[in-house]
Amino acid sequence: MEMKIEPEGDRNVLSHDLHTHTTYSDGRGEPLQNIEAAERRGLSFLGISDHVQCLTGRSQGRYLTELMELRKEADLTLLIGVEANAMPGGSDVPGEMRKKLDYVISSVHNVVDSPEEYLSLVRDSLTDEKVDIIGHFGISFPNVGWPSWEELVELIKLAEENGKAFEISSWYRVPELDFIKECVRRGVQLSFGSDAHRPDRVGDVSWSVKMFRKAGGKEEDLFISRFV
Ligand SMILES: [Zn+2]
Ligand SMILES: [Zn+2]
Repeated sequence: MEMKIEPEGDRNVLSHDLHTHTTYSDGRGEPLQNIEAAERRGLSFLGISDHVQCLTGRSQGRYLTELMELRKEADLTLLIGVEANAMPGGSDVPGEMRKKLDYVISSVHNVVDSPEEYLSLVRDSLTDEKVDIIGHFGISFPNVGWPSWEELVELIKLAEENGKAFEISSWYRVPELDFIKECVRRGVQLSFGSDAHRPDRVGDVSWSVKMFRKAGGKEEDLFISRFV
């Protein structure tokens, strides 16, 4: 079901997608195709967040230059990010690159053996100053088991202390509603992500919007409100 997003002036903070991939990593569309798809959907904000490990050497420079050029022409606000990997000790985005980006998503992509191992990787990213958003939190739990509610609350408190946000992923349908509610209760910001790997999925964030509304989130509870 498609959610109706009502406009609030020119730029509607609910109308954003900060997790999309292009041909710079494993996405199928060129950056311009993602932008055009987002514009057709009427998004106010689009983030391009290619996998950081694909952006090495010359492609890193081209990525930044091309996106900075494209944002001058775009009818929406284009944010330039990356999706980094949550590793032991923090995210793997290079510090020099971080300075040139609008935001960094850090996601656990490692195979983990236990919920504790997963949480430990997330904790290391929550205390890494290079990181802004934790991506698709909890996708490994159906395989390795769920942490306790107390452990989850400790994690949310750590995000609160460090000013980090969690993504509500429409593709993976995580995190759970109670987790999102606790984020809202503690003032931990949230972001919407389609994890689109092709242009026709860009802006497919209706699940994120629905969960955010169910959790009682307000504009200031959105990470994107930092860019308004
Ligand atoms: Zn990911
Ligand atoms: Zn992704």
